[in-house]
Amino acid sequence: MSNELDKTKFKKCSCSVDVEDEKVTIKNHYSLMGWFWWSMGTTAIPKSISFKCNKCDIKFEEITDVGLIKHHMYYRKH
Ligand SMILES: [Zn+2]
Repeated sequence: MSNELDKTKFKKCSCSVDVEDEKVTIKNHYSLMGWFWWSMGTTAIPKSISFKCNKCDIKFEEITDVGLIKHHMYYRKH
């Protein structure tokens, strides 16, 4: 088991910016129940996470797989 984000599981932007790049805006999208738990101070698992490249201003990846979302939440650096 590695203790780093497995970047091969994520798409890259066409300009080669990847999901851990500092030029990426990461957005967690929660379901209504997710917002509820989040407002109660509980860590909710987002419904999806999207990655936007700030250089190209495009969303180049969106993950909806729960396993992948958990993997990202656990290992993300920023
Ligand atoms: Zn880009």
